[in-house]
Amino acid sequence: MTAGYTSPLAETLAPDVLARLQRYVRVDTQSTRERTSSPSTPGQLELGRLLVAELAAAGIADAELDANGYVTGTLPASPGSPGGAGANGHVVGLIAHMDTSPDAPGAGVEPLVHRDYDGGILELPRNGTRLDPATMPELSAKRGHDIVTSSGDTLLGADDKAGVAEIVAAVTHLAAHPELPRPTLRVAFTPDEEIGEGATLFDIDRFGAECAYTLDGSELGELQDETFSADEAVIVIRGVEVHPGQATGKLVNALRLAAQVVAALPSDRLTPETTAGREGFIHPYELTATAGRAELRLILRDFDDERLAEHVALLERTARDVVGREPRATLELELRRQYRNMRSQLARVPGVAAAAEAAIRAEGIEPRRIPIRGGTDGSRLSEMGLPTPNIFTGGHEYHSVREWASVQDMAAAAATIVGLAAVWARRS
Ligand SMILES: [Zn+2]
Repeated sequence: MTAGYTSPLAETLAPDVLARLQRYVRVDTQSTRERTSSPSTPGQLELGRLLVAELAAAGIADAELDANGYVTGTLPASPGSPGGAGANGHVVGLIAHMDTSPDAPGAGVEPLVHRDYDGGILELPRNGTRLDPATMPELSAKRGHDIVTSSGDTLLGADDKAGVAEIVAAVTHLAAHPELPRPTLRVAFTPDEEIGEGATLFDIDRFGAECAYTLDGSELGELQDETFSADEAVIVIRGVEVHPGQATGKLVNALRLAAQVVAALPSDRLTPETTAGREGFIHPYELTATAGRAELRLILRDFDDERLAEHVALLERTARDVVGREPRATLELELRRQYRNMRSQLARVPGVAAAAEAAIRAEGIEPRRIPIRGGTDGSRLSEMGLPTPNIFTGGHEYHSVREWASVQDMAAAAATIVGLAAVWARRS
């Protein structure tokens, strides 16, 4: 076995995982927040069709793409499973998302493979983009790995096409090796995860799994059964727009009021840039304004639902105080529930995360259980009744032109899926 690989199986799977990733990232599947249909962009359907064809070629007879852009397919339990096909009755889901983030350029991705990484700075050919291990401790630990990057002017799309490639490679391997133990596996590739809609039209009943795993994490060994709880707030302030030449005593500037709301929120705490670990935040991320009308968008996050409610209350109080000082201005505050921490759902079925932990250990990797400062499809799926923790993919620096992935770690994730199937097949 070559250095850097976690097992001979991982080394066997590596070329297939890499080839699939390179194919998938070339399809532009960037989602858009201006969603008028599912999926939000046609490129996701193009990748969906490609994935159906690849699953069918692997022997997944029922692989299909539905009208909303969800790909599903079934690999029945192996005849080699204890008691014969499907005898233990477990049905386990494997999920990854097909879209990429709208937050960095996503069209025209040209992946590069840097073989046998020497631990130094990786200079990408376009836009002067550099990956400096001095500021990326996880990259500096991958000396000797094969590192995949973009060409510097787009994201890579390892988030989450690494997860897609790992699932397709693992399922293809299992289908070709019926002697390997496995439960019934249900595969799903979702659209529009990056805009928070991946679970929206997911048909859990039809999927029919008792639990699932998203392959949408990052560093080798990560197993996440805790995510943020998340709300979004949209504040609309209306002022009185008057020609500035005749504005004396009349103009009420909505833009100024919105800026005052932002300025009145805490900036030395409760922000993404001043918090870490289990601390939450209030994050204004978009302000569009004229003197007459201002629209301010914020996201609010915490691991604890009660503390999240406190952040919401602080935002409401602040906005009402500031705008309330100008009686001619009006304020609307709309709160949208996004997702909730999956911890309480997963605590009821401890065997689900335990199976993933056992599979990660069986691959010779020490599991890292770190809460995600974000959400996954699994956050909402768990809330909807499908317990879904998240497993590492080997990708890093998501949503940026510096995004990269380790071939060895992606292969470890694919091998972990094969091992996870064995764990479930052995269960009673
Ligand atoms: Zn993702």
